[in-house]
Amino acid sequence: MAGIGLDASITEKVFALAKRRGFYWQAYEIYGGVGGFYTLGPLGVRLKDNIIRIWRKIFLEPYEFIEIESPTIAPYIVFEASGHVGSFKDAMAECLKCGKKYRADHLLEERGVKVSEATGLDLLEKLLNENRVSCPDCGSLNWRVSSFLTMFQTNIGPYKESIGFLRPETAQGMFVEFRQLYEINRARMPLGVAQIGKAYRNEISPRQGLIRLREFSQMELELFFDPQNSRCPYLDEVKDVRMNILDEEKVKAGDNVPHNVNAREAVEKGFVKEEWLAFMMALSQKFLFILGVKPEFQRFKAKLEGERAHYSAQTFDHEVLTGKFGWIEVAGHAYRQDYDLKSHSIKSRTSMEVVEELSNPIKVRKRFAYVDPLKVKRDFGQLSTQIFKAVSGLKPYELAELLERYGNIDVNGTVVGKEYFMFKEVEETVSTRKYVPHVIEPSFGSDRLAYAALEYAYTIKDNRVVLKLPRDIAPIQLAVLPLVSKDGLPEKAKEVYKLLIDEGFTVEYDESGYIGKRYARFDEIGVPLCITIDYQTLKDNTVTIRDRDTWKQVRTDIKELPNLLYKYFRFKINFEDLGLPVPIEKP
Ligand code: AMP
Repeated sequence: MAGIGLDASITEKVFALAKRRGFYWQAYEIYGGVGGFYTLGPLGVRLKDNIIRIWRKIFLEPYEFIEIESPTIAPYIVFEASGHVGSFKDAMAECLKCGKKYRADHLLEERGVKVSEATGLDLLEKLLNENRVSCPDCGSLNWRVSSFLTMFQTNIGPYKESIGFLRPETAQGMFVEFRQLYEINRARMPLGVAQIGKAYRNEISPRQGLIRLREFSQMELELFFDPQNSRCPYLDEVKDVRMNILDEEKVKAGDNVPHNVNAREAVEKGFVKEEWLAFMMALSQKFLFILGVKPEFQRFKAKLEGERAHYSAQTFDHEVLTGKFGWIEVAGHAYRQDYDLKSHSIKSRTSMEVVEELSNPIKVRKRFAYVDPLKVKRDFGQLSTQIFKAVSGLKPYELAELLERYGNIDVNGTVVGKEYFMFKEVEETVSTRKYVPHVIEPSFGSDRLAYAALEYAYTIKDNRVVLKLPRDIAPIQLAVLPLVSKDGLPEKAKEVYKLLIDEGFTVEYDESGYIGKRYARFDEIGVPLCITIDYQTLKDNTVTIRDRDTWKQVRTDIKELPNLLYKYFRFKINFEDLGLPVPIEKP
């Protein structure tokens, strides 16, 4: 059975189909293949495009969120500021005999030893050695564990010292451009900015097909909002979306029976910290449903402190149950707070604040911080000029806030503690309020989504594959088939084909081989409807429409066809409403 965690061989079956019919296959096969790189074939490209189109429709269009495309390579300083250089690392286990390297946590999990992203390197090494985990390559039992930076490094231009990284997430593009985006959006908050594009992670030993790639596509949305006015006005829109949530308490207790709540309840009961976060999770569930995954096979699992990314105050993995891999993460929903904007603000010395005009002026107590030049000069010597320059880019109250928050500031690797600053408190009357926005981020990988959609669509009927992809994502919507390739039927079929192409449908024409074989071929690649031109078409201008899932047929007039098909795909009318039933022929 597809997609319900029972059939572990489903992955191999999906992969065989994907390769045979042109959804995806391992890249560089003529050179033996390289782990973590896949090529999407013609059907894969269309499937991915459809997934992206629906994502835009669900997450962006109704809310006037905007989209950008930033470079995939960034200079060192961007990922230094974002914290990735320091913490975007995986624990790598190296076999001391053959030198092969693996993800330490994956080796242990395969052995049934539970660890998490928070487990330290020493403990991982101890667990591998004590549990006598053998090297998948040479069988040896001796391991050394170290950490491995999973960003791809490159040089920008011909200068060795000019280090760049291929981005491991698209998100930083939105953060570094925040000022510009805020202005383009006419200084309105909340502001949603999305990016769809490639991300690169130098995974240690990827062995899970489309699920773990070294180059993959992400769809990310950064929702910038005012932390003092964090209401999401759309919660009622998703009140019927009931989510399975394993909150932090349940995860800690090892309790796998989820809460079943809607977004508002999730916030009210304290499972989810922010309304916008709960809202994005509900949209995420809706989205996966459209891709063919029923709610009972979806869940949101909280990450515990220590497992979460360095920037996150709360994270939920949106997981889908799969046959071979069990629950897999298809999206991460993170509350990134103001971590990224603040970090870039310090590094670039650019204010990332937004301004709110207040209707009535208010009195506020403000803390200002000023650098103590004598102390800095005394203790930092030549580095002082750099420190003064860095600090001068920030307003005194921004500086005070940063010091309050982090206890120090970091100037190109030099840590300057609170004791080098003087603080002053003043009362001010202000008619504006300034703040650095907080961020909620839903982050999807389109390749994993494509895989999940294929697994959930994969069914067997009468010993052959019928790929029941939802109408919205089927790479080809219609096949036009002359019953036989003679007697004027191909000519008539080509007219119908042209008509449907002109109407904007994705259509394939095929006249080769027996009609039954052609139906089977189109069932296997998930084409929802086949339009057949037969001898009766020549007499009365009617065609049959065959349904992929039930194999039933109806007959309809060609001039009605575009309108009916439009309703079928756009408004999801039933197949039976497309025309008059055709009696099932006795074999
Ligand atoms: P993360 O930032 O790790 O939460 O990743 C966000 C999303 O990107 C995940 O939910 C996946 O859908 C996707 N993703 C992350 N890493 C990979 C990978 N190595 N291969 C394919 N997709 C990935």
